[in-house]
Amino acid sequence: MGALRRPLGALPLRLLVALLVLLAAAAAAPTAAAARRDADIVLVGGGTAGCALAARLCAALPSRRVVLLERGPPRNGTEEFLVGVAVPRRGLWQQYADDWLAAAERAGLPSVSEAGWPQPDRGAWVHRLTVDAAGRRRDACSAYVTPALGGACAHNLRVVQGVAVTKVLWDDDRAAGGAPRRPAAGGRRRVTGVAYVMSTDRDAARPRVRSLRARLAVISTAGAVGSPALLQRSGIGPPAVLRRAGVPPRVDLPVGEQFATRPLVGVTHSYAGGTARLAVENNGSVVASAAARRAWEAGRGGVLGVAAFAGLGRVPDGDGGYVSATFTVDPAPGDRRFRTYCMTNTASSGQLAVVDGSPFTPPTVITNLLGGGAAEVTTMLSCLRRVAAVGDAFAPRFAMRQTEPEPGRPLDEAYVRDLAGSSAHFVGGAPVGAVLDGRLRVRGFHNLYVVDSSAIPSIPPSAGTMASVYMLAEHMAGRLARVFRPVGA
Ligand SMILES: Cc1cc2nc3c(=O)[nH]c(=O)nc-3n(C[C@H](O)[C@H](O)[C@H](O)COP(=O)(O)OP(=O)(O)OC[C@H]3O[C@@H](n4cnc5c(N)ncnc54)[C@H](O)[C@@H]3O)c2cc1C
Repeated sequence: MGALRRPLGALPLRLLVALLVLLAAAAAAPTAAAARRDADIVLVGGGTAGCALAARLCAALPSRRVVLLERGPPRNGTEEFLVGVAVPRRGLWQQYADDWLAAAERAGLPSVSEAGWPQPDRGAWVHRLTVDAAGRRRDACSAYVTPALGGACAHNLRVVQGVAVTKVLWDDDRAAGGAPRRPAAGGRRRVTGVAYVMSTDRDAARPRVRSLRARLAVISTAGAVGSPALLQRSGIGPPAVLRRAGVPPRVDLPVGEQFATRPLVGVTHSYAGGTARLAVENNGSVVASAAARRAWEAGRGGVLGVAAFAGLGRVPDGDGGYVSATFTVDPAPGDRRFRTYCMTNTASSGQLAVVDGSPFTPPTVITNLLGGGAAEVTTMLSCLRRVAAVGDAFAPRFAMRQTEPEPGRPLDEAYVRDLAGSSAHFVGGAPVGAVLDGRLRVRGFHNLYVVDSSAIPSIPPSAGTMASVYMLAEHMAGRLARVFRPVGA
């Protein structure tokens, strides 16, 4: 006891030094368990943007620990088959593409080069599939993350699959009990990490909630639906929406208020001739054809997962904009259908709102399809009439016959409104401007970012959303690498 009461200066010098060394070591090197829990940068969502960004950041910042959290289960090696496309025998694809291009030409859409610039305001081309030299489908995970994990980022990138992030954590709880505030410009809340549950706990009454600390930043890459839902579950959003979902509002921002999707409507033909080329064994879905599936599993390939090929066309709309049309073959065995879809640009948007605080409950989405005025319908109609004419212009040996709209039903506004669906091109749930600042930080936060399709404020007028998301991720990887580079590195 007497020794403990001695003043610090009276401790033997060697003991004091040892104590200081121990304290310093404890502060600098967390326990092994804590180190496993912590990260410098946490990315939520391993999709298009998340995989690209994670791989770029870990390579550019070798001394930073990057953790990518993904809700989906680990890949099992066969799922590529279920989602993927195997390039068919090249000659077959080309023949089929040629048939379509010839029909398009006859219907007034000349063949143009996909890469040509400036792009003509009308034309048709066969677009490239994202496949490697061996013909296997590539996606953001296989193209970015897999090589990073096996190479430059083996030491500092961790991918955790099968975890659903419930919310973002931050220290400033001042608004938690009171009225949510609009964040002041330049507000400086600091997020500290995320809370998550195991995806396998989806049906558990009380899933165990764990947390992961993020020393530098949390980047939401949870996608068009996932990011706005994550922000809302964290208490960032319109207060009325959050209260309805039982989430205490903490930051008043219009999250989910500008959610937009591109409308899509199709026309269908059935065909009788030319069957060798369009038979399901050549083009069909692995889901639809047991024989095709067995062939794939035996390593023989030769199956297309989604389409015989995809072509794109463009026709000018009334306002000088354009319409893109994709083309696919319906995969049901024996059901020889040829479908062409029109997707138009849109000025309308809808809303996305979580209904409770669970990451497993899908949010409510109001798409407000074709809600942007009469021009949206006329544009869609002009595209549909053009692609219907392409179907009619196939070589006679196909014996193409339009089945949708069915004979006698006009291609008119009623058809468009009845059949309109979403193209699955979604943007705007957490748009730059209203929700994010110019650095893609959530307004009022110092280190909470959203980098994915939800950050894009409106439908990209000249492309699908995928390419735009890759470009955004690549651009932000460069910017964020500069932000998070250690001083002096
Ligand atoms: C059927 C379909 C067809 C499409 N076809 C085309 C096309 O032909 N051309 C084109 O340009 N675009 C197409 N798109 C759109 C394109 O795929 C998307 O715009 C793009 O992939 C969006 O990328 P993202 O990074 O924003 O989100 P995503 O790629 O959706 O990634 C989000 C990821 O976050 C994960 N996640 C979500 N919430 C959580 C959470 N709470 N915790 C952990 N993980 C979470 C999700 O599981 C997902 O992996 C298509 C989309 C669909 C659905």
